[in-house]
Amino acid sequence: MVCTSVKQGFDCHFMTKKGCGFNGGTCHRIVEQCEGCQRIGEFASGKYCLIYPDPSAKWRLGKCQMATHLKETTRKENGRINPLKASKRKLH
Ligand code: SF4
Repeated sequence: MVCTSVKQGFDCHFMTKKGCGFNGGTCHRIVEQCEGCQRIGEFASGKYCLIYPDPSAKWRLGKCQMATHLKETTRKENGRINPLKASKRKLH
């Protein structure tokens, strides 16, 4: 159903005829770690995640699994040469 509270005009499955059915009755704004993510929606009421109603919960135990802005960082981390594989490469 289309949200009539904080994400006005956004089709959300938490929205019911009785109002927002999410815990607390509203979505929560994005957190600092979300900045740069393409899943952020800007509404008159502020910036909200378009898939998670409580972004802080997604970062509480580590990185958000749906974040779009972390891939580059991950690639850089993976770009490091594994010394074990590098030594094997030298053998061939
Ligand atoms: S997908 Fe994750 S990182 Fe992106 S806005 Fe939503 S909670 Fe934040």
